[in-house]
Amino acid sequence: MWGNCMRLYGASLAIVAMMTGLLTGGVSMADENAYGLVIHGGAGTLTRENLPPETEAAIRKALGDALYAGHRMLAGGGDSMDAAIAAVVILEDSPLFNAGRGSVYTWEETHELDASLMDGRDLSAGAVAAVRNVRNPILLARKVMEDSPHVMLAGEGAELFAREAGVELVDNSWFDTDFRLEQLHKAKKESDPSAMLNPLALDNKFGTVGAVALDRHGNLAAATSTGGTTGKRWGRVGDSPIIGAGTYADNASCAVSATGHGEYFIRHTVAHDVCARMAYREEPLSVAADYVVMDKLDRAGGDGGVIAIDARGNIAMPFNTEGMYRGYRVGSDDPVVLIFRDQ
Ligand code: ASP
Repeated sequence: MWGNCMRLYGASLAIVAMMTGLLTGGVSMADENAYGLVIHGGAGTLTRENLPPETEAAIRKALGDALYAGHRMLAGGGDSMDAAIAAVVILEDSPLFNAGRGSVYTWEETHELDASLMDGRDLSAGAVAAVRNVRNPILLARKVMEDSPHVMLAGEGAELFAREAGVELVDNSWFDTDFRLEQLHKAKKESDPSAMLNPLALDNKFGTVGAVALDRHGNLAAATSTGGTTGKRWGRVGDSPIIGAGTYADNASCAVSATGHGEYFIRHTVAHDVCARMAYREEPLSVAADYVVMDKLDRAGGDGGVIAIDARGNIAMPFNTEGMYRGYRVGSDDPVVLIFRDQ
C-alpha cells in the first residue's frame, strides 16, 4: 500500500517535472552517450516591437554560429570546456551582445568586463573581473584556471597577468559601439538622481553571454562573459565572474550559466543552487532550475534566467523575463535558436 503510494507520488512528481520543464524550456534527452551545448546571449525585457527584423536576424545568426562552432567540437569527441569557450568567444566578438566587443558603458563611458568558467571534471575554475583591455575575457579566465594558482583576478592585476600570459590586449575603445553609447546617454537622461545609486534601474536588458556543454566523455563545463550593467560605477562587479552565482559546473550534477540582475544572482548563489538541488534533493535538472529561477529568484525580485545541462544531456533554460537569447543542440538533433518564450 505504502509502496504503491510512493510509486504514485514518484509518478506524479515525474509528470509535474515534465510539465514544468515543458513550460519553461526544459528538454529531456536522457541518453548515456549524450553530448550537447546550450548557449545564451542574455535575458531581459525584450519585446518583438523593439527588435527590428534585421537585428533579430543578425542575433539569430550569431547564436547559430556560436552553437555550430561549439557543437562541432563536441560531435568530433572534443572537450566540453573547449566547446563552451569556442561558443563564448564568437559571442564576445560579436557587437550584438553585452560581452567583449559589444560591452555596455560604465557611467564614466569606459568598459569593464567580467568572465568566468568552470570545469565539472574537477571543479577547477577561473575568473576575471573589471578588465579593460582584454579582447576575450573568457580566454583570460581560462589562463587564470590553467596557469595560475588562483581562481579570480581583478582589475590592473588581471591585466598584468594577461600581458604575461600572452592574451590579446586591445585599447578600451575597441569595445565602443554607437548603440551602447546611445543606450548610456538615454539612461543618463532618463535617470533621476536616486537612480545613480541603482544603475540597474536604468536598464534591464541584460546581454551577458554564456555556454554550458556536455562532451562525449561525460564532462560538463560552463562559461559566462559580460560587460556588466549599463552605467555601472565604483568598480561594480556582478554575478558573471562569481563562481557559484553566474557560473557553476560539477559532473556530479550539472553545468549552469546565468544572465540577469547580478546582485540577486550573487545573493542567491543561483548557479550553484541549481546544482545543489540536483545533488542533495535528487531533483531532475528542469525542476531544480525552474524552482531557482521561476520561484525563488522571482519571489526575491531578481530578473533573469539560466541555461543548464546535466550529465545525461537533459537541458533547461528557464527565465522570468520577456525573453532570453538562447540556443541548444543536443547530439545529432537539429540546432534550435530562440529569443522569446515560444520562438
Ligand atoms: N548578470 C550580469 C551582471 O549583473 C548582467 C547580464 O546578465 O547581462 O553583471
